[in-house]
Amino acid sequence: MGLVEGKVALVTGASSGIGRASAQAFAREGAKVVVVDVMVDGGEETATMIRNSGGEATYFECDVSKAAQVEAAVAVAVDTYGRLDCAHNNAGIEGPLTPTADYPEADWDRVLGINLKGVWLCMKYEIPRMLAGGGGAIVNTASVAGLVGFRGLPAYSASKFGVNGITKVAALEYAQAGIRVNSVCPGVIQTPMVDRLVAAHPEMTPALLAGTPLGRFGQPAEIAEAAVWLCSDRASFVTGHTMAVDGAFIAQ
Ligand code: NAP
Repeated sequence: MGLVEGKVALVTGASSGIGRASAQAFAREGAKVVVVDVMVDGGEETATMIRNSGGEATYFECDVSKAAQVEAAVAVAVDTYGRLDCAHNNAGIEGPLTPTADYPEADWDRVLGINLKGVWLCMKYEIPRMLAGGGGAIVNTASVAGLVGFRGLPAYSASKFGVNGITKVAALEYAQAGIRVNSVCPGVIQTPMVDRLVAAHPEMTPALLAGTPLGRFGQPAEIAEAAVWLCSDRASFVTGHTMAVDGAFIAQ
């Protein structure tokens, strides 16, 4: 019996990296999965990978910063699979690596719009569906940059501190209604996002490795494990928690 057997899960940012690994892990552990992302090719590929492994998945194209698209994505879960039990609100972008005083306003708005407003919009439309089904569990992807400061990432950091904040607010508001809400804070994970960052700034690699006591970058599947567990009934007394999965990055 899988950790989330028979449940319906929605995962955003599921065309790539952590979101793809999460969608696959939810499916492997018995959930039917709605794969949500702006990137159509990657999303269809994730859904196909899940179906080829014997799971059930549907891809839906959605920009999480647009309310009507998020509402439609959440409706797909209910229309296709009858309910919504679990959500991993994970879509995010890094934005440029630029110090605070030089940071472009347009990038500030874009990063906050996707990373923070996007997570809020997801919860806004997921929670009523979960309430209608008698409860549920949400995990939002924040970051270690939502726990400590990172030079050159003012908007990203603001968005991720914000994600940890609204996670706690929603956890308090819906605890009595049977909805648990947690966040996961990845350290440095080997995904296209980090590949882009280190390709543009190769000098960062030794510093990132040196800052990770486990001495290596994490793998997307290692974040997916945490997300699925947090959404499973095994985590029934865990809510309002920010879980670092970071090789002890912030333990120092
Ligand atoms: P990734 O490989 O770039 O995957 C992110 C996915 O989200 C991509 O498919 C991307 O599509 C999609 N996306 C971007 N904007 C979107 C939007 N407006 N609506 C819907 N989907 C959108 O990155 P990742 O590393 O897996 O990151 C996943 C999450 O983990 C992010 O929230 C990130 O901040 C967080 N995180 C990552 C790390 C790390 O080290 N990798 C560390 C801490 C936190 P496009 O490629 O077309 O933009």
